[in-house]
Amino acid sequence: MTGLDLLAKTGSRGLFIGGQWRESGSGKRFEVHDPADESVITDVADGDTSDAMAALDAAVAAQTEWAASAPRERGEILRRSFDAIMDQADDFAELLSLEMGKTLAEAKGEVTYGAEFFRWFSEEAVRVHGRWMQAPAGGSRLLTIRKPVGPCLFITPWNFPLAMGTRKIGPAIAAGCTMIVKPAELTPLTMLALANTLTEAGLPGGVLNVVTTSDSKSLSATLMADERLRKVSFTGSTPVGKVLVRQSADELQRMSMELGGNAPFVVFEDADVEAAVDGAMIAKMRNMGEACTAANRFLVHESVAAEFADLLGQRMGALRTGRGQDAGTDVGPLINADAVDSVAQLVTDAVHDGAELVTGGSAPDGPGHFFQPTVLLGVPAGSRIVNEEIFGPVAPITTFSSDEEAIELANATEYGLASYVYTRDLARTIKVAEAFQYGMVGVNTGLVSNPAAPFGGVKASGFGREGGFEGIEEYLDTTYVAIPV
Ligand code: ADP
Repeated sequence: MTGLDLLAKTGSRGLFIGGQWRESGSGKRFEVHDPADESVITDVADGDTSDAMAALDAAVAAQTEWAASAPRERGEILRRSFDAIMDQADDFAELLSLEMGKTLAEAKGEVTYGAEFFRWFSEEAVRVHGRWMQAPAGGSRLLTIRKPVGPCLFITPWNFPLAMGTRKIGPAIAAGCTMIVKPAELTPLTMLALANTLTEAGLPGGVLNVVTTSDSKSLSATLMADERLRKVSFTGSTPVGKVLVRQSADELQRMSMELGGNAPFVVFEDADVEAAVDGAMIAKMRNMGEACTAANRFLVHESVAAEFADLLGQRMGALRTGRGQDAGTDVGPLINADAVDSVAQLVTDAVHDGAELVTGGSAPDGPGHFFQPTVLLGVPAGSRIVNEEIFGPVAPITTFSSDEEAIELANATEYGLASYVYTRDLARTIKVAEAFQYGMVGVNTGLVSNPAAPFGGVKASGFGREGGFEGIEEYLDTTYVAIPV
């Protein structure tokens, strides 16, 4: 088997609606490209608004029976899907590496991470419960019932084609919701394979519908204008998230928003600098820097900044860029030419603002959308690169001289998703974790993502949590029942 064999099981890579694979109503298709050499991998059906409505009809038709299904049954479908993904982990890794560009090792990491959401929520499916209490004044009992919110729309990004889907699909299945998934048009293939895996694991038709489209805007606008859609979960950029939140006003859908980030990576003077560099490599280079949790700004105490920059420069400079599926590649291509242009412009502007280039700094000639791993030292606080999401393999370093300054710099952004601190001082750790305006703080680690933890942000990074005990709450409504006794 290879990654593409997983796709062969989906027929002609059509739309998955009501348990059936079918062509789009218009018969149109769009191409999917390999970011390493810009060649065409294959094509998929290009769904339009009438296909989207067919998917919503199917989700609505399946909702009542699905909500009434046994929690254990839903949990076991998730558990079987977890096992199936892990059994085919190499194939899933190859498929998502091919369409997204990341190395096979990273793709395997995503497959494990993504599948774990199914295992976690297979365990949560049977732990949904309400409460029974006596009213404070006595005389009546208060009962709460948890119910699935109803049909959901999931819009996912291209950077984690599997995991950004499973962390919405897992809790929705566990809670008893039906759904329409709209994968990113740049990386739609993995979601098709996943739909097939869930179906083979026993997921009834209509519970999960997948509509690939080159026109996400029309699809979401049409679906969100329909009162039968009750929930939207979106992972993507902050500007698009704001559009969707505005659109939700008419039918008041419940919203979960996992948006952009501008993660600070703070190294205090008491840190183990070598460990901080190890953590920095993960926080910066996971997914070539194309992650909303990616360290975007390195804030390093002035007494250790030169040592940190030197060590990080050596490690970054030794990385080999190449095709994700080739042995020996450390860093794959970025997703497309626009991504390379945007990263290159940020680096050029930072150097113009006075930053020193420690290593890297440019894009090699094509084909393929590569950018050299880059370290910049002495980046001024006003530079665009420390205020915007880089989404590429560039590490800008800024220095600070006191804890107060570090906290102020770290919070000086509209975003609030992930943050990282390196220190050996417990009191400082607590002070910083309390002062940071972030949904997540990694302490002496470059990786915060964990299916058992509540992933999510504050401020312009959005709201809602995925994973952990909180993850299923996004898919449950509460009905309170008053019972006078
Ligand atoms: P990125 O910059 O990471 O590509 P986007 O926010 O543009 O992030 O895309 C994330 C997801 O949102 C993708 O599935 C994309 O197709 C979809 N999308 C982009 N623009 C819109 C829009 N205006 N309305 C609805 N979905 C959109």
